[in-house]
Amino acid sequence: ITKLGIFTSGGDAPGMNACIRAAVRTALHAGKSVVGIYQGYQGMIEANFHEMNSRSVSNIIQLGGTILKTARCKAFHTAEGRQKAYDNIKAVGIDGLIAIGGDGTFTGAEIFSREHNIPVVCIPGTIDNDLYGSDFTLGYDTATNTVIEAIDKIRDTAASHDRLFFVEVMGRDSGCIALNAGIAGGAEAILLPEKATGIEELCNQLESAAKSKKSSTIVIVAEGEENGGAYNVAKEVKARFNFYDTKVTILGHLQRGGSPSSFDRVLASRLGFAAVRHLLSGKTRIMVGIRGNEIQTTPLEEVLNKKVFKLSEDMLEMMEVLSI
Ligand code: ATP
Repeated sequence: ITKLGIFTSGGDAPGMNACIRAAVRTALHAGKSVVGIYQGYQGMIEANFHEMNSRSVSNIIQLGGTILKTARCKAFHTAEGRQKAYDNIKAVGIDGLIAIGGDGTFTGAEIFSREHNIPVVCIPGTIDNDLYGSDFTLGYDTATNTVIEAIDKIRDTAASHDRLFFVEVMGRDSGCIALNAGIAGGAEAILLPEKATGIEELCNQLESAAKSKKSSTIVIVAEGEENGGAYNVAKEVKARFNFYDTKVTILGHLQRGGSPSSFDRVLASRLGFAAVRHLLSGKTRIMVGIRGNEIQTTPLEEVLNKKVFKLSEDMLEMMEVLSI
């Protein structure tokens, strides 16, 4: 490999820039050229390329988002779209790829790499922490800290008014952000996609909280849980306990932004560095991840086929014990 192409794709996540910086500098250090591909697969199809040097990644380690931009690209789902992408990268001499994104990005990378025989190494970048093969994904720690900060602020106003707050957090089908932010933020109850909690059960929990004279109550609702989101949960609870002054806060996209935490910056640097080293040593169609504080690789096929369950049973039990 003489020239690497690097891109971010799918949802942006804090830490992507720190990762780009590490990957670019590791490749340059090894005497390779690097091309930044803007807007993920869309940029490949449109030949939106920029040669990168060491200074292209100066002063970005602390920035949220991604300097390479990101996009969702329909054309890449078609063989013609991927052919165009391949012709473009070949024309500029790119002979290896580093992809930062989530499972959609990895699916595209796996197909593209097989179809056109181009080596690719993937890096898990998504706040959802929903990928097999890595204990953590880039952006997850920062997003969880952002949620905790918000919960702390909501708690101030909740306690002053004796209110019941429903806070909806991101994570898609994963309850990682919800559970960890709920525990760290001292939530009363957490509704998760991985563990069904019906309205009845929630109401029982709230009733015992009310009996123990709690002055404020915060319920975390993961966006992928089964009761239809925070507004719906609040409506149904209100219908049963109309004495509660209920409020809903949907945290939304603010969870995706912000300066990455030290954890995410270090993880991003380690993954970017390792990804390039593996690509240069001849590996392909793998994801680099972290497991038990060690960098490990997993075949993309395995990442895409295996289900993840990252919530520990003792945390689920602890959550209930600590909320009395
Ligand atoms: P996040 O988890 O943050 O949403 P993601 O990588 O899963 O990130 P997607 O939008 O699902 O985000 O995927 C990113 C891009 O990958 C898509 O816009 C598309 O271009 C490409 N892609 C996804 N699935 C496929 C597929 N089956 N074939 C070809 N390309 C695909």
